[in-house]
Amino acid sequence: MKHNKSIERIRTPYVWLNPRKCKACWACLDACPSKVIGKVSFLWHRHALTVNSGACTGCLKCVKTCSAGAFNKISKT
Ligand code: SF4
Ligand code: SF4
Repeated sequence: MKHNKSIERIRTPYVWLNPRKCKACWACLDACPSKVIGKVSFLWHRHALTVNSGACTGCLKCVKTCSAGAFNKISKT
């Protein structure tokens, strides 16, 4: 299973993405000041993903921008 790799592509140290909720509107790509977010953009399979997780600053603009609730803050415990 390619489990670990998949997980890396939907999270940063601060936020995680639920691809099942993503409507592929791409608003988060424009909202992210650090260019952390990319696209999976096949006709039959479209959602955001994290392509540059290390650059994430935790600004949470993606969480606020996503009207579908696909981006979520990772709560530190
Ligand atoms: S803003 Fe939300 S619904 Fe739109 S592409 Fe980003 S994660 Fe998906
Ligand atoms: S928290 Fe900020 S820097 Fe990190 S992915 Fe979201 S918008 Fe980009």
